[in-house]
Amino acid sequence: MIDLMVVGGGPAGLATAMYGVRAGLETVIVERRPGTLDKACGEGMMPHTLAHLERLGITVEGRPLRGISYVAGSKRVDAAFRAGAGRGVRRTALHAAMSDAARTAGVKFILGDVDGVTQDAEGVRAGGLRARYLVAADGLHSPIRKALGLTRPSRGPRRWGIRRHVQISPWTDSVEVHWTPDAEAYVTPVADDTVGIAVLSSGRGGFERHFEAFGELRARVEGHPHGPDRAAGPLRQNASTRVAGRVLLVGDAAGYVDALTGEGMGLAFGAAELAVDCVVADRTSDYDRQWRSLTRRYRLLTEGLVRASAHPSIRSRLVPAATALPRVFGSAVNQLAY
Ligand SMILES: Cc1cc2nc3c(=O)[nH]c(=O)nc-3n(C[C@H](O)[C@H](O)[C@H](O)COP(=O)(O)OP(=O)(O)OC[C@H]3O[C@@H](n4cnc5c(N)ncnc54)[C@H](O)[C@@H]3O)c2cc1C
Repeated sequence: MIDLMVVGGGPAGLATAMYGVRAGLETVIVERRPGTLDKACGEGMMPHTLAHLERLGITVEGRPLRGISYVAGSKRVDAAFRAGAGRGVRRTALHAAMSDAARTAGVKFILGDVDGVTQDAEGVRAGGLRARYLVAADGLHSPIRKALGLTRPSRGPRRWGIRRHVQISPWTDSVEVHWTPDAEAYVTPVADDTVGIAVLSSGRGGFERHFEAFGELRARVEGHPHGPDRAAGPLRQNASTRVAGRVLLVGDAAGYVDALTGEGMGLAFGAAELAVDCVVADRTSDYDRQWRSLTRRYRLLTEGLVRASAHPSIRSRLVPAATALPRVFGSAVNQLAY
């Protein structure tokens, strides 16, 4: 019987496992994909996200992010992070750094696909292993959340994301968000010769189709080599609760609103720490309340912005309003950054 089994070796699973071994728990990660993992992501690490990595003793290669800029046609507004920078980091670089650190700390890795969970008063059985507790960090469409009957229908706008890396010298040290009537494009510098462009929209379809509307941005990157596209969605996912007996949901598996405000990884790291604290204290029933409290401010702001921007008349006025009220914009950005 091991202490903690973590299903999913993305950022949430790796952070959970690291907090687990730090707390003295024998911890195993089961991940179904081999090698260094990539994923559709804007790759913007907010200052609060970086703070978690620092606490875990992990440094990652990337480019500093000084703030967030909104752009629509000729309108532009910039907000700086007030206490420290964020960082643009490729998911492959993040995964390599986190899994190296986890291995060094003593986390064991198993390649496998967990397809079900059973539990009793003493422990959990899954993927041929038995553990005292299981953390499901198995992503947006969490098979374990579904298997336990915790997935709930999500009300509100449904959106998808698609990301492309373009080989070009970054022209910005902020996350630049370009708004059109139907989609946003998030430009994040991630290396000295690379920017990531993630397009979020309420429609499915390839990168090229969505990118057509971004005239100026498109012209800037036209002709530069790019890597393969990666897509994800629908983004909005809902769970009735994040605890079922000895199983706890962490990261996107716990529920997700939208990538619009870029705090997914930071919240995943925060929840990883809470989940391990609850396991160590043998009080898993506290975790759901603590998760709600940790994520409340982010969920409310993101939900409000997604719902408002789904109305064409409000959407078209968002960037002009932020430009007219830069202090309000700066304050909202900094509410989400820490
Ligand atoms: C387009 C887009 C842009 C985004 N931009 C940002 C951003 O700029 N900043 C930010 O912080 N966040 C951003 N996010 C959110 C961020 O990507 C997620 O919050 C983050 O990846 C969550 O990590 P996770 O570990 O929970 O899930 P994942 O990274 O999805 O990892 C889950 C892992 O579980 C594994 N798995 C699944 N099922 C099983 C199984 N049955 N058995 C074994 N393994 C399994 C998968 O293979 C995967 O490796 C963005 C998301 C999208 C879609």
